Amino acid sequence: MTTARQKRCTRCGQRYVFQSSGEGCGHPLNDPNWCPQCKGAVNEAVAKLPRLLEPRWVPVAEVPTLVERPTADDCRRWFDIHVERNGGMWTRRIWPGLISADGAIMNIWGVTAADGPYRDFPFLFQVSEWSDNREPAVVKVQVEVVKATGVPTGNLW
Ligand SMILES: [Zn+2]
Repeated sequence: MTTARQKRCTRCGQRYVFQSSGEGCGHPLNDPNWCPQCKGAVNEAVAKLPRLLEPRWVPVAEVPTLVERPTADDCRRWFDIHVERNGGMWTRRIWPGLISADGAIMNIWGVTAADGPYRDFPFLFQVSEWSDNREPAVVKVQVEVVKATGVPTGNLW
């Protein structure tokens, strides 16, 4: 589904069409506050600034600051709640999986804790699980890493 609506640029004041969902909504000039011309100027300006932090997926067992460490079963339960809240809609986040030489498939999917009972805990958790359960499922979360050094800051992304 594509959702588009007319907006007024908060900087220059001209009207433009903002696309909030559907193909093209990720275009670098599509923005809810700025018209394509102003957004282009912003993009050009910030491209000159160094990126300080970046996300890195880490197993939840390796994140000391995480108070609750969800299991794959927790994530499956949250996903079921998410589907129920969305009237049965299947909107699971899916990454490209892996296929082993013997045909097993590693499915990689994600859910946020906010989809489950923790409305104020919006972090995205990624679950990697083999179709034949050859290894236990791994739940990961993104942590904040200093780009220059690769050292985690202790914050979640
Ligand atoms: Zn503008």
